[in-house]
Formats: sequence, C-alpha cells, structure tokens
Amino acid sequence: MWLPVLVRGASEDHAPSGVNPSEAGAGPATTRFWSHTTVLPRFTFPGSPRLIYSMRPPNLIFSAHSDHYDPRNMTHNSGINELYRGSIISQVKAFREANDPRKRDLSPSVLDFGPVRFLLARHFGFCFGVENAVRIAYETLESNPDQRIFFLSEMIHNPKVNCDLRARGVRFAFTPSGEQLVPWEDLTPDDIVVVPAFGTTLEMQEQLAARGIDAYTYNTTCPFVEKVWKRSGRLGEQNYTVVVHGKAAHEETRATFSHSVRSAPTVIVLDLNEARILADIIRGTLDRDAFDQHFRHKCSDGFDPARHLERIGVVNQTTMLATETREIADVLQTAMIDRYGKENLQHHFADTSDTLCYATNENQNATRTLIERGGDLALVVGGYNSSNTSHIVELCQEAIATYFIQNADEIVSVTRIRHFSLDTRAVETTDDWLPTKRPLDVVLTCGASCPDAVLDEVLSRVLSFFNNTHPLDRVLRTFTTPKSNG
Ligand code: SF4
Repeated sequence: MWLPVLVRGASEDHAPSGVNPSEAGAGPATTRFWSHTTVLPRFTFPGSPRLIYSMRPPNLIFSAHSDHYDPRNMTHNSGINELYRGSIISQVKAFREANDPRKRDLSPSVLDFGPVRFLLARHFGFCFGVENAVRIAYETLESNPDQRIFFLSEMIHNPKVNCDLRARGVRFAFTPSGEQLVPWEDLTPDDIVVVPAFGTTLEMQEQLAARGIDAYTYNTTCPFVEKVWKRSGRLGEQNYTVVVHGKAAHEETRATFSHSVRSAPTVIVLDLNEARILADIIRGTLDRDAFDQHFRHKCSDGFDPARHLERIGVVNQTTMLATETREIADVLQTAMIDRYGKENLQHHFADTSDTLCYATNENQNATRTLIERGGDLALVVGGYNSSNTSHIVELCQEAIATYFIQNADEIVSVTRIRHFSLDTRAVETTDDWLPTKRPLDVVLTCGASCPDAVLDEVLSRVLSFFNNTHPLDRVLRTFTTPKSNG
C-alpha cells in the first residue's frame, strides 16, 4: 500500500506540505502521480509504531479544551492528520497559508492545467476541531491495541474517515440520527468510548458513567462547541433563555440542547422562517398555539412563551450558516425592540456573536468569494450527512451548476455523475454533466470534515477526462515559488 507524505520527512512535527510526484515512487512521473492520487491511503506505521506521536505538535495535546485557545495562532500544517493530507491540495494550502496566514486575501487558488482550470476556495477542509478529533481518535487506537474501542457515533461526518476507523476495529454505538447500535449493557468499564467532535448529551455521559466509563477520558469534542455550551450556561445563570439556531436532530444540537436545558429554558429554531414566527410570538402577534405548533417538540420541558421569551440569547450549531445565525439574531433583536423599546434592549437581548465558529465563518466567506469569481460547474465534496458541507453546497448552487459528491467514485464517467440532491435528500444521477467549453473552470471545494486526499482524488479523476494538460509539477510551481516582497 502506498503511503503518502509519511514516507519521507514524516518524523518532523510538520511533515512536508506536498509530495513532488516525481519523488513519490518508482515508474514514470505520470504513473507515480496517478498511483498516489487515486487511492486514499490507509495509515500504517512502517518501522515506527510511535510515528504518530513524533508528528504530534506538543502544544496541542489535550490542551485544546482551553478557554485561551486561539485558532489564529494555528497554521493549517499543525496536527497529525497526514494520513488524510492530499499532496496537491495540501501544497496549495500550505503556500497560501505561508503567504497569507491571516487570510486577508480570500481570492481562490487557480490550478491551471490548460483545457481545465480548478478554482479552489482560499479556506476549506479540515478545521481545527476535526483535526483535533482525528488526532485523538488515531492516538487512542494506537495506544490501546488490546481494548475494545467504541465511538459514540460517527466521529465526523465523512464516510472515508469513518470507514477507515471501522476497518481498524472501531465500533459506532449510535447512528448519526440517534439509533442505538450497541446496547448500553454490552459496555464494560474496560471499554474505551470516544466522544465525537460535536460532543454528546449529558444523558449519554450519565449512561456511560453508570457503566464505569468516563466520557471525558477520550473526548474529541471541539472546543468551539464547548464554548457554545459554556455560553449557554452563563446565559442561564443570567436568567436568559437560550435560542439555539440548529437542526434539532443533529448530534451537535442535541448535545448543546442537553447542556443548555440544565441551566436555561431553551428552544431550537431551524431557520429564518422559524425565527420570524418566534419573533411574532415575542411581539404578541402570534399566540401560545403558534409556539406549541412550531416549537413544543424542540423546547425545554415547561417552556412558557409568555415568561421565557422576555430575555433571550442566540447561540448556534456551529456548522449552520453564520450569516443566517446573524440574521436570526437580528430578527429576534428587532422583535425585542418592538416589544420593550430600544432603550431596554440590553436587558432583553444578550450579545452572543462571539460564539460563532471561526472555521465555519471562514469556509463560508471563502466560498462566497470563490463563486463571485465564477466557474462553469462546482464540485463540493463531503459526507451527505455533513451539515457544514450542505451549507457550502447551498451557497454554490445559488450561482453555479453544483454537484455534491462524497468522493471520486461518484464521478462514474466523463458523461455521468452521481450526486446528492439537497432538495430530494437522495442520490441522483446526471448525464452530460461536464460542459464541453474550453478552458473549463471547475470550482472545487469541500466542508470541514473532508480530507484533502479525497479532493486530490476528485481533481485527478476530473483531470483524467482532458487531453494535453499541463504537467502537474508545472502547474504546482505557482504554489512553490516564494512570493516576492518587492
Ligand atoms: S466546524 Fe468549528 S465547531 Fe465544528 S469542529 Fe470545526 S472548528 Fe469545531
């Protein structure tokens, strides 16, 4: 099995950001290129079972759950997720990161192969929380070869990552929709249970504790999700009601709701439409029946709209559209002004804007700039149950013909593609998906849970449909030359 990036220089904290195809293995350059871009590598540890630790940035280990963590001090190359790092995409990312660490320039990167040009968003792919979760997951596997390892549910919403973990013996205790796969009574104190990046409910933690398992020992909950929980707790202490912008069935929203209801009356709103209904209930133009109809199934027990909508704060499922969260907050804030007057707003509406996840925000902003640049079609890659990827798809399909695919296998041929439709919630097949225009501009991006290696595979698959393309090393040269300061 071919091993990427790990093969050379992998004992450094920051492994090489890209592999020159000409160094990737035996055989002519083209063959070598395809050999490493069409197979998602399985992570093995040839000759060095502790390799994974040698690649671990010491400052990150289990320190992520800190109030003082600043994601902007991180570079994309931190983390140990070399197993999922694609050589092409990662090289582009590393170049952009080195030249613009604060992401002031959101213009897309253009990989110009001649007849086809790939436009890559300035920011996409594994976020800090996902890198952190992947790292802890693989470290847990590596350090506990003789124990049964369960994940409470999919660690992140990416089929490749979850498939690989399953192949290594990991079992998932619940489906993403909450269906229990492993009965509680099957778990013993000797088992390891890993909490996924979106966290879990307090009820789950209590179930685990009852079986002698500490849910905090192998906890990959993203610190930005925990930040939302903490803010919800503080809102409750200050007698605010928490309004969660999220999908009620999503693991993260279930977890946030579970934490929030311990200290505050809590209600979940899905979108702007629901926010407007809640706003009218606050104004008194809609009554309790409207609340019962729209929110009773997703609010805390005993929620009384007459009392519990006097003081509110809005938090979100971190993968929702950040702009929509802001719009929802604005709608509710306006309702408070209408009801209580501008001079009393502070008493009735808490400012929670600092709970928005930086990665979601940057992904979405970079996507907007990407589609402003335009393209002939967009390929958005990720798990079909990935919330943040769905939002990237929504943004793209407003402007460009967009195909939401989970990996390169969905590109059946030059004339046929399988893709997920957000409208029908089903996989559909489209023929003649690849326009004949030349040069063709292909927008290529993904959500926070998609490995760069999967994007490499997609890029390679699309590229294989074109003749007389520029060699990869020439195309990538643009992303290896240090920028002139002059
Ligand atoms: S999207 Fe944000 S909140 Fe979610 S895992 Fe990534 S960094 Fe954490």
